Amino acid sequence: MTDTKHSWVEIPEGSDFTMYNFPFGIAQYQEHAYVVSRLGDQIIILAHLNKTSCFEGLGLSDDVLISRSLNDFIALGKGITVPVRERMISYFGTASNDQSSECLVPANEVSMLLPVEIKDYTDFYSSRQHATNIGTMFRDPANALLPNWLHLPVGYHGRASSIVVSGTDIHRPKGQQKPADAPPVFGSSKLLDFELEMGFIVGKATELGDSVDVNKAEDYIFGLALFNDWSARDIQKWEYVPLGPFLGKNFASTLSPWIITLEALEPFRIPSPMQEPEVLDYLKSSNTNMHYDIELYVDIETPNGDVNTISTSNFQYMYWSMCQQLAHHTVNGCNINVGDLYASGTISGNEPGSYGSMLELSWRGTKPLKMKDGTERKFIQDEDTLCLRGKCEKGNIRLGFGDCKGKLLPAK
Ligand code: CA
Repeated sequence: MTDTKHSWVEIPEGSDFTMYNFPFGIAQYQEHAYVVSRLGDQIIILAHLNKTSCFEGLGLSDDVLISRSLNDFIALGKGITVPVRERMISYFGTASNDQSSECLVPANEVSMLLPVEIKDYTDFYSSRQHATNIGTMFRDPANALLPNWLHLPVGYHGRASSIVVSGTDIHRPKGQQKPADAPPVFGSSKLLDFELEMGFIVGKATELGDSVDVNKAEDYIFGLALFNDWSARDIQKWEYVPLGPFLGKNFASTLSPWIITLEALEPFRIPSPMQEPEVLDYLKSSNTNMHYDIELYVDIETPNGDVNTISTSNFQYMYWSMCQQLAHHTVNGCNINVGDLYASGTISGNEPGSYGSMLELSWRGTKPLKMKDGTERKFIQDEDTLCLRGKCEKGNIRLGFGDCKGKLLPAK
């Protein structure tokens, strides 16, 4: 392989933050929150880098770069944000710039914040294997997919207020549960689960009444981040008919702090799956490569510190593409805003070891997972830490998503 990019910044072997990545996030450093990127173990403070000639002519100001969210930065549009990333690739790849280390801060000296102010969050249900598994467990194995599933990307409106950044502890939720042959009871959820999902952040707003064309939808996607849609299966099971997910879902969701841009992911684009039956015209994309090859991992860290990788999956296991999701979401004229979060829905591959939830991995608790410390898991236990990871590799081109991590604490 030829085109390995090198930098004067040291990039440890296996780092997620290579010269091919340059994601965006928000970091608290000393008394300010800054728009940042990352290379190796160094945080790049864009407001400080802006004091050099790196971003000359792009019109970046401290108003945008010293901020508690990326929203204003993203709203500058890809006409600015794409060159910002390209200039950083060039700047950090040019040896003579190595005197300009004032823009760099070791990653362990900052706290990463939620990268965007999320006003609206929508969760889809776009992995065929996941929808099939759920339909098989709870309904009819012969008709696992509901009649609409192959015709439209099924989704629901989620809750934005309880989305937290990786590293935030989660309390086990309380709520109503319905034992099999008894009246409902109130208490802590007994069946606390995670959901392995990929989120995308909207980079461009629309007006009420407008729709996003499936062939232009990528213009509206700023980038991707890992997303754990924590789920209380016992609360969910009792409440969800007829209107869908509510308190079993909205108590917490965890987002990774780095937004990986679509431009960084371009080398990892892959063919989309055949869709049969044929979809309606507004969901037909002229580009047949609308999916991405992103390897995904789920770890449970038990209280003794052991890390158990319980699932290995891939973002390619989606039936509906992000562009189809966005086209469908706006086809009725629903407007979208910069910073809106769209999640893929649980991503499950075809093999049991690639399922994206404990519900599926333990098959409703009938196949407990063995941990290194000798204990078993049917669902997540108090003091467990759940971590999602993602990485892309193609020849020498490599990048990762950083951790999407949360520890489960007992109910408050
Ligand atoms: Ca979900």
